[in-house]
Amino acid sequence: NQTLLTTLRERQRLLERLARIQRKIVSRTALEEVLEAIVWGARELLGDETVGLWLLDRDDPEQMVLVASTGVPPELLDQARHGRIGDGAGGLAIAEERLVVIEDYQRSGRSNQMFVGDGVRSAMAAPVRERGEVVGSLVVATHVAERRYSRAEREVLLAFAEHASLALTDARTVGDAMHHAFHDALTGLPNRVLLLDRLAQALARASRSGSEVAVLFLDLDGFKTVNDSLGHAAGDELLEAVGTRIARCVRAGDTAARFGGDEFAVLLEGATDEEVAVAAQRILGALADPFAIAGREVFVSASIGIAVGSDESDDMLRNADLALYRAKARGKGRYEVFHQEMHAAVVERMELEADFQRALRRNEFELDYQPIFELASGRLEAVEALVRWRHPERGRMPPGDFIPVAESGRLIVPLGGWVLQEATRQAAEWASAYPERAPLGICVNVSTAQLREPGLAGEVAAALESSGLPPRALCLELTETAFMEDLEAVAAVLGDLRSLGVRLAVDDFGTGYSSLQHLERFPIDLLKIARPFVVGMEDRSADPAIARAIVYLAKSFELGVIAEGIENAEQVTRLVQLGCALGQGFHLALPMGPEAIDELLAAGAGANDRDAVAHAEAHP
Ligand code: C2E
Ligand code: MG
Ligand code: MG
Repeated sequence: NQTLLTTLRERQRLLERLARIQRKIVSRTALEEVLEAIVWGARELLGDETVGLWLLDRDDPEQMVLVASTGVPPELLDQARHGRIGDGAGGLAIAEERLVVIEDYQRSGRSNQMFVGDGVRSAMAAPVRERGEVVGSLVVATHVAERRYSRAEREVLLAFAEHASLALTDARTVGDAMHHAFHDALTGLPNRVLLLDRLAQALARASRSGSEVAVLFLDLDGFKTVNDSLGHAAGDELLEAVGTRIARCVRAGDTAARFGGDEFAVLLEGATDEEVAVAAQRILGALADPFAIAGREVFVSASIGIAVGSDESDDMLRNADLALYRAKARGKGRYEVFHQEMHAAVVERMELEADFQRALRRNEFELDYQPIFELASGRLEAVEALVRWRHPERGRMPPGDFIPVAESGRLIVPLGGWVLQEATRQAAEWASAYPERAPLGICVNVSTAQLREPGLAGEVAAALESSGLPPRALCLELTETAFMEDLEAVAAVLGDLRSLGVRLAVDDFGTGYSSLQHLERFPIDLLKIARPFVVGMEDRSADPAIARAIVYLAKSFELGVIAEGIENAEQVTRLVQLGCALGQGFHLALPMGPEAIDELLAAGAGANDRDAVAHAEAHP
């Protein structure tokens, strides 16, 4: 049977076509491409040269939109883009929700006049549904005279439109999935992927038009504190609210995106430098008002880094990042625009960071020890471990040149761990080599970044255990910045350290922020008077008010006190008069290698250690 065979062959082709469309959908091809494939499939199956796919206009229920077509003359396309539901085969198929065939298009009263003018002779349309509802129609039409649509052909169009409906439903579902892939679930803002895509497009447009694009990177200041103190749910709530405020600050065509964590980015097209600055200021202003989170008022500020230009995406992003870094370094809550010279500083810094990783592996760090004496007797009481870096190209670097880099990159944690181990090992070695002397105290500097890590107390315990050093011999020096953080968490860590039996000192006391409350609240054993308060003490006419106050404070809280940076004999005298028992400084002894400390201990000078050092330095 010829017709049956044809029908079977037709069906085969139909299924192949549809399979191809499904594949497009599965491979997440853009919806437009899926629609194109439907149109081309219909054209191939039925052989008519004009095919169109109409969908309801979402903004106007009377109208439909031609979303994909082939064979419509280009000069008609603009006019043909919109049609009225009920007009022509396509419009009727939607209105009547059935297959519509107009075989004498030129004379039928139901034709679309524009297509009559174009010379269409016959047309046929089938409704297209989405989740059961008619949402459009698929139309085939021809300029060939005497075209008759067989029953098989009518069924093919119906079947195809039916399958196209399924495909469309799927594609929309995929569209939703695409939305998820390109948007941040928490804030609903575009995500990093979408922002990068839009940036690439904006840069391509900018290079054609000779204009510029601005990228603003935004990072909340102190978000971690909110998260830690109020909990993650509150943190999320805050991020959502921040996202909303940022999005309100940009124009319709611009993109505000969440990059992840507490990082956001804004893309501005065709804005002048002033407009960009205004936008940044507007965002900072919008975040300045308190947020109502978890029943309280929460304040956050943000730092913004800006890159303006038409460079490669990667360069733009890196530059904005550098500017952000600068904004943070300059005190947060502000914006900075990238300038070329930021590069050099950052390249150097990045090199240093890379070097640092290598240095840890290759053991390029070493410790010097600065003696701490009992001032009145000159007896060596303790040493402070001070780290140095034997950098293969830059030479021996003092900690001031690399500790800040290490702190921001969290590299301080492994370095601090090494310092602890090495210092305790060395101190234990001295204790067993010179049993006749009272065990030498060892002071180790601990950065605030280390305090934030959960493992610090465990690390200290392990260092004591493996070295065999008595805990009382170890003194950890903290800086006042430690007390500016989350007080509960710091108190807990200090409590843990204290219960190991080690002592705790506040380094450079008086230069930072600490309050008397902290002295009462935290288990502190010692205060170190910062060098600036020792400087000038030799001047008999000046009153060393701060040094005196610190000594007094230490006495009231029953704390020990060590003066730092003693540079002459007069300062020693006056410190002793004030009642400061311990001190260190270039006048007494420079920081020195472990062998030099060994010699000092071997000399067995005891109460005259200080003079022994002075003697050794005078006659090296
Ligand atoms: P700090 O803990 O206050 O250490 C004292 C610093 O003052 C040392 O500088 C020491 O060489 C210097 N100094 C000692 N006596 C005098 C003096 O009479 N006059 C003057 N002008 N300076 C004196 P250094 O070794 O350059 O260390 C600087 C800072 O680096 C230290 O200050 C400490 O905060 C930090 N640091 C050193 N080692 C480590 C470490 O292992 N870990 C951490 N986190 N920080 C460290
Ligand atoms: Mg120190
Ligand atoms: Mg100090």
